[in-house]
Amino acid sequence: MLTPASGIRSTLYKVYSGKLPDPSTLNPLPAYADMEPDSLPLICRMNITSDKPLVDSIFGKSPWGATTTKVVSPCSFTDVMSEQLAKQLDDESNAFPDFSNVSADLDAGEEPETDSDLMLAQMLQMQFDKEFDTQLRTEEKKFNGDSKLSISFENYRMVHTYEDSDSAEDEVDWQDSRDDPYKADKPTTTPRRGFTGKGKNITTKHDEVVCGRKNTARMDNFAPEINVGDGLGMDLKLSNQVYNSLKQHCYSEQRRSARLHEKKEHSTAEQAVDPRTRLLMYKMVNAGILENINGCISTGKESVVFHANGGSMEKNAVPDECVLKVFKTTLNEFKNRDKYIKDDYRFIDRFSKLNPRTIIRLWAEKEMHNLARMKKADIPCPEVVVLKKHILVMSFIGKDHVPAPKLKEAMLGSEDMKRAYDQVVHMMQQLYQECNLVHADLSEYNMLWHEGKVWLIDVSQSIEPNHPHSHEFLFRDCRNVATFFQKGGVSEAMNVYELFNVVSGLQLSGDSEAEFLAQIEALEKMNEDHVQRRGKKMYTFSTSDGGPPLLHDEDD
Ligand code: ADP
Ligand code: MG
Repeated sequence: MLTPASGIRSTLYKVYSGKLPDPSTLNPLPAYADMEPDSLPLICRMNITSDKPLVDSIFGKSPWGATTTKVVSPCSFTDVMSEQLAKQLDDESNAFPDFSNVSADLDAGEEPETDSDLMLAQMLQMQFDKEFDTQLRTEEKKFNGDSKLSISFENYRMVHTYEDSDSAEDEVDWQDSRDDPYKADKPTTTPRRGFTGKGKNITTKHDEVVCGRKNTARMDNFAPEINVGDGLGMDLKLSNQVYNSLKQHCYSEQRRSARLHEKKEHSTAEQAVDPRTRLLMYKMVNAGILENINGCISTGKESVVFHANGGSMEKNAVPDECVLKVFKTTLNEFKNRDKYIKDDYRFIDRFSKLNPRTIIRLWAEKEMHNLARMKKADIPCPEVVVLKKHILVMSFIGKDHVPAPKLKEAMLGSEDMKRAYDQVVHMMQQLYQECNLVHADLSEYNMLWHEGKVWLIDVSQSIEPNHPHSHEFLFRDCRNVATFFQKGGVSEAMNVYELFNVVSGLQLSGDSEAEFLAQIEALEKMNEDHVQRRGKKMYTFSTSDGGPPLLHDEDD
């Protein structure tokens, strides 16, 4: 059947291809002949045979009320066609209808309907709230980035109730409710005697259908995270074999997910960010000390270091960029380090009584006190901001989130290398003589190159020269430093023995390492005996650096 639309299109085509159509093909279909022009389908209202007036198209009519009908005088087919084309082009360029006169049209009509206004307003509000939430979610994502510690904007959401009521949890509640109208009946239980019915109608408990239904019902007892569907509702009958293998699968899934969960918790502990640590970090952000905590700078055996943006504190200023050194709460590594702390008289009374978790806090505390001493002697090092349990917050050495390179990686030119060497020797002397400390882990990995100078870091294990092994550690530090700068092309670099004497002010002699170390051991032995005879009184370095409280000397 030729539809009016295709008629018009084909006519247009023929007009433009130069052949005039047979007028009979252009008449409206007979079924439309007697209809009122207004009730004709849009396309039919354009009578193109020119013996009837052309009536309004939909574009001439207002959807808001009656308007005057334009009567168009008869005209030729060619006129109609060109007018039609003009109108089409006009409509295309005014794709959006003009609503400027809507209110006037509404006024002209009947009393406006207001019943559904509230609902419409609510729907609009809901739409607005949802858009707000979407925006909020984007903001939240942007704010948290890849950070391990994320902050939820949940409380600022607009559509709590709406979303919650839609949640799967509610659906489960609804399914569980006692008056659930759709809840399928549980299969009837077989009495103790093992069968129901009489005579020919006896059904035993082994009946396939009864058993199947019972098995389906039993799936309700599977773990909540196993989706068992609505087997009862569709009268599903599970054979024993199928039921048993489903049950087996369900148990093994549970065990697997428990194992995974366990692994996850352990692995975060490996990264030092166990839930307790996370909470501590979160509290620091919450208290405004830190603005936010960014990515991890380094993961070592004993600590994890994060970059953070500084916030503010009442008493002290907080640098714009900070690091959080999180001492690992996995204890294995620290066992190797007992020797550094258990003989450090500053901690000796506390060490023996402490549990391992507290000992880790002592490491953080130790680093804080040592840094304070170094700061006092003007040795370039991070400045302590705050200590919270096993998390030490200090200033960031670096710029714009980029940490300063370690000396190992800095690739210094020969001039800088020489400058760095002179500075390191001077710092080692200051450390020993002014701060009464031996770094005990000094190497090109714990010195950073920043703003044209060397910065010392990682002093949690640093000890006082009175420590029974301090000179062994000092010798090791000297060996690292001498080797690094000699290899780095600093011709003036002293050998390890010279460096040891320059730093310590001692005059040990010996050309071989064994000889030298023997002297060091003898010295340390003497020191130890001395300590035992004199008690702690001989250690005169005061705790004015904020060091840990010392035991009161019995002689005092
Ligand atoms: P570890 O005991 O794990 O070696 P460090 O104190 O040496 O701990 O820190 C590990 C790494 O973290 C350093 O090599 C350095 O790159 C980086 N780092 C530590 N403290 C800072 C700081 N204050 N500023 C910049 N980077 C730091
Ligand atoms: Mg280090």
